[in-house]
Amino acid sequence: METQDMAKILALAVQAAEAGVDYFPTTGARCPFCGRRKVPVCTTRHWEGQTRIRYHKCGNPGCYLNQIGKTIKSVESLEARG
Ligand SMILES: [Zn+2]
Repeated sequence: METQDMAKILALAVQAAEAGVDYFPTTGARCPFCGRRKVPVCTTRHWEGQTRIRYHKCGNPGCYLNQIGKTIKSVESLEARG
């Protein structure tokens, strides 16, 4: 993989980690970089209306988000459950 492509993918993953990925009770949050599911939760916020925010850290040693210590935000929404 080209270094530039890697930089783009990493930049997008960091953006996604900051903006928040979807959280599902069954599969948890998915790492936006390596795609690992059920990324370990480090902080769980209280429900605010229909949404709950969590912060995760990817435990995959080969994952850049893990290597740079980037926290992944996730958003659980009651509406999204249907
Ligand atoms: Zn990861």
